[in-house]
Amino acid sequence: MAASKPNILMVMLDSARPEFLSCYTHGAGTSPNIDRVAERGLVFQTAMGPSAWTFPVMASVFTGMLPTKHGGHDEHQLLDSGYPTLAEVMARNGYQTAGFADVPYVGPSTRLNRGFNVLSNMRVPEVSGMSKALKAMGRVHRKLSGGYNKTCETRVLMGEVLRWYESTRDPQKPFFLYVHTDETHAPFLPPPAYRRRFTKLSRSQMYAINQDKQLFVSGQRRMSDGDFANLRDLARAEVAYFDAWLGKLLDRLDRDGLLEDMVVVIAADHGDNFGEHGLLRHGLCLYDTLVHVPLIVKTPGSTVGGRVQPVVQLIDVFPTLLAAAGIEEPETFAEFQGRDLVQQARTGRHAEYVVSELYRPGQGLWQKKAPGFMPEFLDRYDRRLRAVRTNTHKFIWSSNGRHELFDIVSDPGETRNLVDLDAKRAGEMERMLESWLASFDRREPEAAYAVEDTADDRVFERLRELGYVE
Ligand SMILES: [Zn+2]
Repeated sequence: MAASKPNILMVMLDSARPEFLSCYTHGAGTSPNIDRVAERGLVFQTAMGPSAWTFPVMASVFTGMLPTKHGGHDEHQLLDSGYPTLAEVMARNGYQTAGFADVPYVGPSTRLNRGFNVLSNMRVPEVSGMSKALKAMGRVHRKLSGGYNKTCETRVLMGEVLRWYESTRDPQKPFFLYVHTDETHAPFLPPPAYRRRFTKLSRSQMYAINQDKQLFVSGQRRMSDGDFANLRDLARAEVAYFDAWLGKLLDRLDRDGLLEDMVVVIAADHGDNFGEHGLLRHGLCLYDTLVHVPLIVKTPGSTVGGRVQPVVQLIDVFPTLLAAAGIEEPETFAEFQGRDLVQQARTGRHAEYVVSELYRPGQGLWQKKAPGFMPEFLDRYDRRLRAVRTNTHKFIWSSNGRHELFDIVSDPGETRNLVDLDAKRAGEMERMLESWLASFDRREPEAAYAVEDTADDRVFERLRELGYVE
C-alpha cells in the first residue's frame, strides 16, 4: 500500500568534503542540522563517489551503476541508456517525485530529469519552476554581487522546496524529494555573517583569493598555503550557511511529525582539491580529495545508527532507498553495481572493493583560459582513469599507462606511488579491475580517441587498449 511507504529526502551538498561537516570533524561547528540526522542514522566514514564531478556522479547515483555501464560521463554527457532512474522507479511505485537543484547538468539536456514529476533548477532555465520575478531577482542579485554570491540562490532554492512541500505536495502520497545545493560548490563566497564566523577575512580579501582552477593549475596564478587554508574556512562557512537553511526544512518536517519516519540521505557528489596534487577544485583526478565523500543515511524510526568504517559507495544509495521503501523490482536490482547500505551495516558484509571512473575531460575552458598550458594539459590530464579501492589500498589505472598504487592507511594523502615498489599488489588490483569490467555490458564511446587525436602514440595507446597491438 502506497501510504505505508516512507517519505524520502535526499540532499546533495555539491563538492563538500567530509571534513567540512561537524559530524565528521568534531568541533568544526559547521553543520548542527546535518548532525541531528547523523546522530539518528548511519554515518559512513569511507564512502566513495563514482567519479570526480557532478554529471557522471549524479548519472551514477540515479542509476545505481558506474559510468562505463550507464554510459554518461565526460565523453558522452547524456544519460540515454535504458536503465531506469531512481526517480522513475519511485514514480512508478506510487511516489511523487520532486527535485530542486541549482547546479548545472541536472535537467533535460543531460536527461538527469528522468522520472521527476517536478524538477526545478535555476541553472537550467527550461525546467525552472520559479516565477519570472524570482528568477529576475536571482539574476539582479548575481550581478550586484559581482556574479558570484550564491546566497540568494539558496534562499530561492529552499523557498521553492518549502513552497512545494506546503502547497503542491499531495499529503496522501509518499514523496521522494531531492535537493541539490550549489552553495557548497566553489567559488566559496559565503554571506558576511558566516564569513566572519569562520574566517578573519574582509570582503575584499575574500574576493582577492584566486578560485579559478585553470589559472592555478596552469601556473598563471600562484597560491600560498594561507590561501588554501582560507579557502577551506570559506568552504566551511558555506556548509554552515546551507545547513541553517536545511534546518528550516528539517524543523518543518519534524513539526509535522514526518521526520521520524522518513528516510533521509545526506551526501556530497564529490570533494574538491585545495592545492593537493597540484590541483584546485575538481574534475581531473580520482584521488580521495575528490572521491571520498560524506554519506549519512537515516532510516524510518531511526532504527539503525552508528559509524561504519569499511568502504562503501555512493551508488549504494539507490538499492538502499528501494529496500527502505519495500520496492521489489528484481530486474532493477539485478543491474545495480552497489548494495543496500543498511543491510551492509547490519550484517557487516561489505564489498571487497569499490570502483570510481573518470573519462577524458573537456578541453574547452582550458584552451580558452590557459592556451600555453595545453601541451602539458594533454600530456597529464587527457586520459581515462579507473580507480579500484579496498579498505587499505587504491590502484588507479590510467589510459596513458601511468598507473598508480597507494597505501591509504599509511599515506592517506596519496603522495607515494607504490606501483613499482609493490608490483605484485598493483597487478592483483589491476586484475580486480579487469574482472569487474568483464562483469557487465560496457557502454564506451569507442571512437572518441580516433576522432579528436592525431598523435601517433595516442592512436597506438588506443589500439593497445582495444587489444589490437601489444
Ligand atoms: Zn558537483
